[in-house]
Amino acid sequence: MSTSIQQTEAHEAHDPEVLRKAREVIERCSSPRLIQKEVIDAVERNAIWRGEECLNLLAPEAPTSPTVRKLLASEVGTRAAEGHIGPTQRWFAGTIYIDEIEALCVELLKKVFKSNYADHRLVASMVGNLTVYTALTKPEDDIMTIPQPTGGHSSNRYNGPAGIRGLNIHNVPMDSIELTVDLDAFAKKARQIKPRLVALGASMTLFPFPLKEMTQIVQEWGGKIFFDGAHQLGLIGGGQFQDPLTEGACVMTGSSGKTFSGPQSGIIVWNDPEINKSITDAIFPALAATHQVNRVAALAAAAAEFLAFGKEYMAQIVKNAQALGQALHDRGVTMLGAHKGFTRTHQVIADVRAFGNGHDMAKKLGTANIITNKNLIPGDKPENWDYPSGLRIGTTEVTRLGMKESEMETIADFIMDVLIDRKPMNAVRKEIIDFRKSYQKIHYCFD
Ligand SMILES: *Cc1c(COP(=O)(O)O)cnc(C)c1O
Repeated sequence: MSTSIQQTEAHEAHDPEVLRKAREVIERCSSPRLIQKEVIDAVERNAIWRGEECLNLLAPEAPTSPTVRKLLASEVGTRAAEGHIGPTQRWFAGTIYIDEIEALCVELLKKVFKSNYADHRLVASMVGNLTVYTALTKPEDDIMTIPQPTGGHSSNRYNGPAGIRGLNIHNVPMDSIELTVDLDAFAKKARQIKPRLVALGASMTLFPFPLKEMTQIVQEWGGKIFFDGAHQLGLIGGGQFQDPLTEGACVMTGSSGKTFSGPQSGIIVWNDPEINKSITDAIFPALAATHQVNRVAALAAAAAEFLAFGKEYMAQIVKNAQALGQALHDRGVTMLGAHKGFTRTHQVIADVRAFGNGHDMAKKLGTANIITNKNLIPGDKPENWDYPSGLRIGTTEVTRLGMKESEMETIADFIMDVLIDRKPMNAVRKEIIDFRKSYQKIHYCFD
């Protein structure tokens, strides 16, 4: 099955109404300077609302430290540094200090993830996944990846990097009760297909994968396991989740702006010198050129924070997620994985069919300043994409703002206020703005 993107002349991916409003704003302004001010004002409105007044429970978000934010605006972000680190492999001159910054970043990433190799040049984890498919597969190869309703991500499917590499994609069988790989079904299917690569990448991710067992199976024909740790990256670095590289994955990618709590971008780490050349060749010159050295500096600073605070911070994220899962369960919400303690990550997943659907509930919660996302859950079909049955709730941000288990009870009460219409929406929003006043400082950093 392959999904093709419908392109017609009239096709407009963005909401035409929102674009029309922007054109109106531009036309209404009497000078470019005032147009610029419109941009700045929208950024400021977001900073106040999302930054100070909301309970941000989006699983892919994390607040960065003041130092990381400052570095993102630094002078070095205007410099071009194509190529590999060092005096001879750069295209441009003038990179002596940039080499220092980038080398510190690479060595810090290697230290945090206990890997032999790491790369810092990926603008997104999506590009990291394309790097892996470019380096380790050829078009028409068979691979196995996790489908979206059981947690998979488009980057490993037909409508993402794996698809544009021209790979034949087969589903990793998932157990929808245990919420991990169905190992027996996997063994049977994989032995028939003999995939070159098996990608374990999940955006909805509650429990560890049977990585050691899967590695043993694919080794029978020289296949490899690729761990797309976009979400779990911080938990892995902080020692709070299975360590894919020691359990058999040959390479791991991850989003540095999700649990890792650095600037939004991608990282890639691996141990095997045999794949070193193909991976670094795929990064440069294939998929990265100028690569935002300001972001690299911010990433290095975030990695240093991680060495000091990662373990404690990540452990609290998981404790908070478990506490929030329990608190919602106690209040009558159907939570996935309840029989296994709800979660071993930063996420919990609610089945909200008793209240409506995931789309409507996320929208309603958003009106009350509680930011979550709708999510497909096992049992949903891919075509339920717009109106799925689940809500994904993450604890990274509230944890970095200093919240602990007792605050998860309060958050669960706020969520229930909205789900069962216990209070007027405006009243809930006011209470949340008030509650957030005591949680404005970023914890687990040197600032
Ligand atoms: C978020 C996500 C990605 C993409 O990461 P970006 O950094 O946003 O490009 C890839 N894989 C999985 C499993 C994800 O959840």
